[in-house]
Amino acid sequence: MSNSELFIQALENNDIELIKKVPKTDLHNHSTSGCSREYIKKHSGIEIPSLQKKLKSLDDMEQWMEKNINSYFSTPEGRNMTLEGCFQVANDDGVVVLQIGEDVWGNGYYYNNDIKKLIAQYKNMHKKIAPEIDFRFQVGLSRHCGISYLEEWMAPFLEQDCFYSIDLYCNEFAQPIKNFKGLYRKAKEKGWLLTAHVGEWGTADDVKEAVEELELNEVNHGIAAADSPQIMNWLRDNNIQLNITPTSNVMLNRVESIEKHPIRKLYDYGIKVTINSDDIIIFDSEVSKEYLRLYNAKVFTADELNKIRLYGLESRGNYE
Ligand SMILES: [Zn+2]
Repeated sequence: MSNSELFIQALENNDIELIKKVPKTDLHNHSTSGCSREYIKKHSGIEIPSLQKKLKSLDDMEQWMEKNINSYFSTPEGRNMTLEGCFQVANDDGVVVLQIGEDVWGNGYYYNNDIKKLIAQYKNMHKKIAPEIDFRFQVGLSRHCGISYLEEWMAPFLEQDCFYSIDLYCNEFAQPIKNFKGLYRKAKEKGWLLTAHVGEWGTADDVKEAVEELELNEVNHGIAAADSPQIMNWLRDNNIQLNITPTSNVMLNRVESIEKHPIRKLYDYGIKVTINSDDIIIFDSEVSKEYLRLYNAKVFTADELNKIRLYGLESRGNYE
């Protein structure tokens, strides 16, 4: 049986173990937050509570992280464990292409401004835990940081040849998107794939503006585009892929429920969408679970979910 046939059968039988066995991508995953509660419990005995109700804002999420996670895991040992967990959880979930990386400030904060150490940490972890995974190393920028700081912090990353893509995240309203144009031009010259978080909290117009200003190849979230038929058509015509995280969108109150998730509408407009985890440690959102949730909520048929799975693989040149 082909992977596509297995995947469809697994969804129809609600067989999560079989879903996990079929190759899939996770292109929107925040590294150490990609570790699961189960992994942490098994390896440290610490029980992280599950999210009992929706979060109201990113600040609310930060506070939850601070209280339940950072208090244990912001030490070098703690980060080591959660990064190891991220690779292990992805591997156990059948993720064959994993896009994760480090925030540019993390080089100073965790690695003493020694980029070689940062790179070695990720590469060694990849090799040790999940060498079969096609690991795409990402450079991350926080939107609230000053541009001159970001330029300074990003400089050592631009001197390396192991990075694959760049992402921009945190508060979408912190400063205008055009401020990041210079940084993204440098990333483009370097040949990195250009992505940014936009249209999670902002509007459809914000999505279009970010794609135009930064010349994005892919958008993380971008769900607000569903409010504008023109912008959805424009995204489709320009072949802009949206890397969507359904449970995160529900739990951060961006979307009322999985049933009402606009991923359906975006897909119907012919936009390439992929299904991703965001922060597994908070949202309990390994990609296999996300596919099954969308299937059980009748958002997509098993065949459509398989097409979406293939979009992800094809977007990284990783055909079955
Ligand atoms: Zn995200």
